[in-house]
Amino acid sequence: MLKLDFHPAGRHFLQIPGPSPVPDRILRAMSYPTIDHRGPEFGELGLEVLEGIKKIFKTQHPVVIYPASGTGAWEAALSNTLSPGDQVLMFETGHFATLWKKMAEKLGLRPEFLGLPGIEGWRRGVQPQMIEERLRADAQHALKAVCVVHNETSTGVTSDIAAVRRAIDAAGHPALLLVDTISGLACADYRHDEWGVDVTVSGSQKGLMLPPGISFNAISPKAMAANQHAKLPRSFWDWPEIVEMNKAGYWPYTPNTNLLYGLHEAIEMILGEGLDNVFARHERLAEATRRAVRAWGLDIQCADPAVYSPVLTGVMMPEGVDADAVRKLIYERFDMSLGTGLGKMKGRMFRIGHLGDCNDLTLLATLAGCEMGLRLAGVPVRESGMPAAMEWLSQAPNTRGLKAVA
Ligand SMILES: *Cc1c(COP(=O)(O)O)cnc(C)c1O
Repeated sequence: MLKLDFHPAGRHFLQIPGPSPVPDRILRAMSYPTIDHRGPEFGELGLEVLEGIKKIFKTQHPVVIYPASGTGAWEAALSNTLSPGDQVLMFETGHFATLWKKMAEKLGLRPEFLGLPGIEGWRRGVQPQMIEERLRADAQHALKAVCVVHNETSTGVTSDIAAVRRAIDAAGHPALLLVDTISGLACADYRHDEWGVDVTVSGSQKGLMLPPGISFNAISPKAMAANQHAKLPRSFWDWPEIVEMNKAGYWPYTPNTNLLYGLHEAIEMILGEGLDNVFARHERLAEATRRAVRAWGLDIQCADPAVYSPVLTGVMMPEGVDADAVRKLIYERFDMSLGTGLGKMKGRMFRIGHLGDCNDLTLLATLAGCEMGLRLAGVPVRESGMPAAMEWLSQAPNTRGLKAVA
């Protein structure tokens, strides 16, 4: 018997902020036979997913789907629009913003990392007025792009992208706006066209409820035009050839057929429930989580209630408590995975994911697991968080079972 062949009774609680649990409906759809990616059925599948995904990004323009994790789509966004040595303005919201900036350096760009000092920047969202001031000072328009993370998965903060757009416009600056909503899409409201985003980057394994393995670039006409002059080397990521072949539902290389079956199912589920109902469900579960955390007497990582993430909640540990030891205990005792503290927050917090295929009772079990684990680990807990969460979930408006309004 292989050591990894380990199937404890009941379902594992995968409460990390991605990969999120994959609904059975999607797993079943993914088990259809792999077909000829140049054949007629594939073309129909391709056209349907390429059209459907636009509704989730709220765009009329092309969305490219890569057989890659989100990191690949990050690289695609930069390499399709920029040239070696280009200056870009990036905003430090947390670990993922930091990784994107490191990638920009490796690609030969010159990123400038704007942000609030120290840990403060990891507890609040993007500050649009800082972006506006910096852009106003750039009279020569040396900055070619502004890059921000919509939902910072390392902290549980969701930034106001419309406000970033207004800041760029107020400064009268032509920089492109590139946004990572890898973990925000299909959890929090997102409007690629209305917010004037030039490239939106997303991935499969967070709000879309798919396994890891595909990722996206939603592309504005301005970004597509920038591709013509962008000199960073690219081949696999290059948009024009992909967009051209996508018109008939095909790709220049072998796409991820079975994940596209899954995407087809996910789009049907999300649009069937209705995007607004999906967002309301996430907000509701997030609020229940925060009420429990407050009852425990612990701090929420996000310090600005205006930008609490509907996707995940970062829970800070009291001084001297190793958050990873608590996580380990919860994993071993209750078969539940929680997100680790990343980067500057290593060991200081854990993250509770409440995204995707999650409902009231999934969340209550998750919170119960956290609470038992905290007590067993000797973390001082002021009072049980369960009554506060249960009270909220029994009283707050529920969109369960509601369908999309046609
Ligand atoms: C998950 C995530 C990434 C990285 O995506 P991978 O699929 O792991 O490559 C980047 N940014 C954000 C905000 C994320 O949540």
